[in-house]
Amino acid sequence: MYSNTPQPVCVLGSTGSIGVSTLDVLARHPDKYSVFALTARERVAELAQQCRQYAPRYAVVLDKERATQLQSALAGEDLPTEVLYGVDALCRVASDARVAVVMAAIVGAAGLKPTLAAVRSGKKVLLANKESLVMAGPLFMQALAESDAQLLPIDSEHNAIFQCLPHPCDTLQGAGVERILLTGSGGPFRTTPPAALEAVTPDEACAHPNWSMGRKISVDSATMMNKGLEFIEACYLFHASPEDIEVVVHPQSIVHSMVQYRDGSLLAQMGNPDMRTPIAHALAFPERIDSGVSALDLIAQGRLDFEAPDEVRFPCLRLAREAMEAGGSAPTVLNAANEIAVEAFLGGRLPFTGIAQLIEKVMKSSQIVELTDLDAVELADRIARERACDLLEEMCGTPVGQPCPQSRSM
Ligand code: NAD
Ligand code: MG
Repeated sequence: MYSNTPQPVCVLGSTGSIGVSTLDVLARHPDKYSVFALTARERVAELAQQCRQYAPRYAVVLDKERATQLQSALAGEDLPTEVLYGVDALCRVASDARVAVVMAAIVGAAGLKPTLAAVRSGKKVLLANKESLVMAGPLFMQALAESDAQLLPIDSEHNAIFQCLPHPCDTLQGAGVERILLTGSGGPFRTTPPAALEAVTPDEACAHPNWSMGRKISVDSATMMNKGLEFIEACYLFHASPEDIEVVVHPQSIVHSMVQYRDGSLLAQMGNPDMRTPIAHALAFPERIDSGVSALDLIAQGRLDFEAPDEVRFPCLRLAREAMEAGGSAPTVLNAANEIAVEAFLGGRLPFTGIAQLIEKVMKSSQIVELTDLDAVELADRIARERACDLLEEMCGTPVGQPCPQSRSM
């Protein structure tokens, strides 16, 4: 950890919002970190540009066609970069013996296999891809316990909670923790009249008031499913039960979450809403490095507000809590149904309010099974996606038209 040679980093999902912020932080510390691998699904031109700037040993894309495109984009340039494609290649670069740190920033269920590969090979894993923990929580945490891997949360709330807890922290009770307060901004529709939610557009849903993020997580923030997924993520990460965690709406996104102790102390982590802070924190932990984020000006900020979440306006919060309480494959089903619903909303096939309705229908009609192994996770995920596609067709009244993205996701 304190060696003088730069630590090789693998950035899974390097062209995304978190990936780009990660590269920004890494570029500030060439003495501490080097880029070993970059991966993206399809934005080949952007990935090529990143390869020119960071000269990674490997670049991984989704399929052969894109690999050929990337190879031709880089042809004739004097780079050490070998181009690979496919899920196995993602797992290979995430578990390569030369890698010290893996940033898990692929969006959705597609992140599960490479993130697990990084955990199993004992890396320092920086977890942004909350969906992988939600869909396979018990197996993920078991893999972590059986390996030498270190898991550091990137989600700003979980990173804040991590910063407010002592280290090591075997149990919340042992640390004197009474409650975790998970904050959320309430998204762009916090005060929109419920009757107007039916007609909101994908662009309106993606216009988050405080954070600039990828489209899937932006829609999740607008439905507050993001907070629901984070609630489940926090249960697994901090070995908490659902009663240990309370969601608090905080519109300014300055307090990133809090931990309440038995003696009445309430510790909060604050900062400007910029993901480079949790990224820099997790990269360097337990040291501190510059992230490029300006200091929080409390006087200019002026006020911080807090309110209770409205579960009638945001049913996804309730659905996520119910899924965590039900256990087994229920969070897997929730996540799969949400991915299908968000994609249908972004594609203009489902109204905004239909997202929660579709997820609830899938949850109600799904059998909950125990997640004994990764095959059980994949099966539960696939069945839930198929069910969601069938129900979507019923709700839309017309054939969905596109194949359901189940195989692509894993
Ligand atoms: P994004 O859509 O901007 O980027 C996603 C990245 O994953 C891209 O590089 C894309 O090419 C890659 N990708 C997508 N599908 C893939 C597939 N099937 N196979 C391989 N690669 C694939 O998303 P983002 O906003 O950067 O979010 C990434 C993850 O981080 C999500 O799980 C999100 O919930 C989490 N997160 C994001 C933020 C944020 O501020 N953006 C904050 C907290 C957590
Ligand atoms: Mg978050």
